[in-house]
Amino acid sequence: MPAAAGIPVAGLAVRDAASPLAPWAFQRRTVGPRDVQIAIHHCGVCHSDLHTARGEWGAMRYPLVPGHEIVGRVVAVGRDVTRHAIGDAVGVGCIVDSCRDCDACRRGLENYCERGSTGTYAGIEQQTGLPTQGGYSTGIVVDEAFVVKVPASLDLAAAAPLLCAGVTTWSPLRHWEAGPGTRVGVVGLGGLGHMAIRLAAALGAEVTAFTTSPAKADDARRLGAQSVVVADDAPAWRSRRNSLDLILDTVSGPHDVDRLLRTLRLDGAMVMLGLSPDPMPFPGTFTLASRRRTLAGSMIGGIPETQAMLDFCGTHGLGAEIERITAHDVNIAWQRMVRGDVRYRFVIDCETIGMG
Ligand code: NAP
Ligand code: ZN
Ligand code: ZN
Repeated sequence: MPAAAGIPVAGLAVRDAASPLAPWAFQRRTVGPRDVQIAIHHCGVCHSDLHTARGEWGAMRYPLVPGHEIVGRVVAVGRDVTRHAIGDAVGVGCIVDSCRDCDACRRGLENYCERGSTGTYAGIEQQTGLPTQGGYSTGIVVDEAFVVKVPASLDLAAAAPLLCAGVTTWSPLRHWEAGPGTRVGVVGLGGLGHMAIRLAAALGAEVTAFTTSPAKADDARRLGAQSVVVADDAPAWRSRRNSLDLILDTVSGPHDVDRLLRTLRLDGAMVMLGLSPDPMPFPGTFTLASRRRTLAGSMIGGIPETQAMLDFCGTHGLGAEIERITAHDVNIAWQRMVRGDVRYRFVIDCETIGMG
């Protein structure tokens, strides 16, 4: 197999659904004609990494290296590569391939590829038939079509979470046309939620944040929310009824969806971004019907919109609010993320992986 002659890298892998992340040396495929080899500088820690590694969304193949908020610099390119050059600051998000031919792919929505896009980790690499491994590692090889440019104005570490948290919130904000004159609710103040507030505010929308953590209220305002509804503050919930045009729900576990839906005005839409592994009751049909409300979902974003989001962030000087960690801290970071104790994204310094 090509792996035998591949490029050696150091990674952090889980060996089964219960074990912690531990060092693992493995190989990337050799650089093909359309491939870009990237030295990974930083990788964000997304809650999806944990859901996946723990088998919460279904059985996995192990060892598994998570990570899909990847930024770094190009160190080699294949002979047919035209979009990227050695030394470029680049990013890789949640997908590394798709069929490129179906209706969704032709529309630049590779994330909805009808034949199934290839996940950056826990997928099957089309070139080798081997499992894909993610960005908790020192290097990666990706087809140039799935590599995006990171604007020079952005700090590389703070840009890493844009590759998932950024585009996952940007895509529905654009699709549902958030902007001046619209009122947007953001639920859950973690990696996705804090980027949703920043992006919605930068697009000109009026933002209301919903959080279960009173200690995050001031941060929500600083990030751009005009108002904050904390935990079970009944008068605050009542006063928001029938007021919002769009809600982005980024909560990672079961919660009361019906109560949130009731804050939507006529024709408002609530978009489920959080992917709770535990089931939630279907909201009341009267809640939906009485104001012609929509309950929707959205999955990451396509490559063109990922680039558009990065360019927008470059122009507006928007990055994530991050806590930088070394390879040694990642297991503790996962535990803290489960407790909601993250301000607001952990980002791994990937040069520290494999340093013993
Ligand atoms: P995160 O950083 O852990 O943030 C989730 C936040 O939700 C927490 O900080 C907390 O905020 C709130 N929360 C957690 N459990 C809750 C509960 N049971 N009830 C109420 N609030 C709760 O996670 P993330 O990385 O932003 O990801 C959030 C979810 O989105 C995960 O399920 C992830 O897998 C999913 N995701 C989906 C996509 C997609 O394409 N749709 C992409 C990336 C991630 P407060 O303290 O403010 O309440
Ligand atoms: Zn993610
Ligand atoms: Zn396709």
